[in-house]
Amino acid sequence: MPELPEVDAVVRTLAPHVVGRAVHLLHLGRADILEPAGRFGSDAQAVPPEALLHRGVIARLLRRGKHMAAITHDDRALEVHLGMTGQWFITTQPPEQVLAVKHTHAVWAVAEPNATPAPAASAAAPRPLLVFRDPRRFGNLKPWASAPDMLAHWDAHLGPDALHITAEALAANLGHTKRAIKAALLDQAVLAGVGNIYADEALFRSAIHPLRPGRSLRPAEVATLAEAIRGVLAQAVAAGGSTLRDFVNGDGEPGRYSDNHEVYGRGGRPCYRCNTTLQSIVLSQRTTVFCPACQPRRGPRKEPSRATR
Ligand SMILES: [Zn+2]
Repeated sequence: MPELPEVDAVVRTLAPHVVGRAVHLLHLGRADILEPAGRFGSDAQAVPPEALLHRGVIARLLRRGKHMAAITHDDRALEVHLGMTGQWFITTQPPEQVLAVKHTHAVWAVAEPNATPAPAASAAAPRPLLVFRDPRRFGNLKPWASAPDMLAHWDAHLGPDALHITAEALAANLGHTKRAIKAALLDQAVLAGVGNIYADEALFRSAIHPLRPGRSLRPAEVATLAEAIRGVLAQAVAAGGSTLRDFVNGDGEPGRYSDNHEVYGRGGRPCYRCNTTLQSIVLSQRTTVFCPACQPRRGPRKEPSRATR
């Protein structure tokens, strides 16, 4: 499932193709890929094409955590969720070829802002095309009445962006949670952008057992964890994310970080650091992999108390 580095890769690679350009909705294959919000009610059929950026000029692409959106000059916003297998990319293939590919749910023609709008579903539509494809359909397109509405929702529901998380912000958002630290890291209200892959990787780098209660972490461990989260995410961002199966960036290319995973997907294999067999458990319904030797359940030994000095 795409996490912060993968979504970041999509935003960074798509931006040069779409920012400052007009988009015209050519094709919407099925209404159930829409998640209508606000004034659109819950009826996907009632969503007008204008809510899906139609005839808008893209002013910017935004990312916060695993969320991303396109904002038009007239402040319309469309959030694009990749779910498990979603792809949002640019192609210069002809429309009939693009539409023939299975699971292609939405297609926009991208044009210069003052070019004549393409007639709907025209085979002569201008290139390039912006495509949303999602085989398993856990992803969706979420139109917002306005960009400020969307941003207010993000502010209310998302914690700080994980790429720049500080020790102070992480400590404050973890609070005194009794939850397992891994479960807390997956909570987007605590920290926005970390999912299963990068939570396991950051906990391994920090030598923290995934089942330790959040509140049992010492300040120094929280600082180490914040640094590990920033570090692993920055490296994954630089490598264009991880492709496990379907993920591609806005140019249709896979990420190159998958070979760098130290624990994720390596349960039962030897730890790169100590050769102990990596253990795999299920936590919050997700597979969690860690090294029982490098990440002890009990955490670091207590510092000597006053009495022993
Ligand atoms: Zn180890």
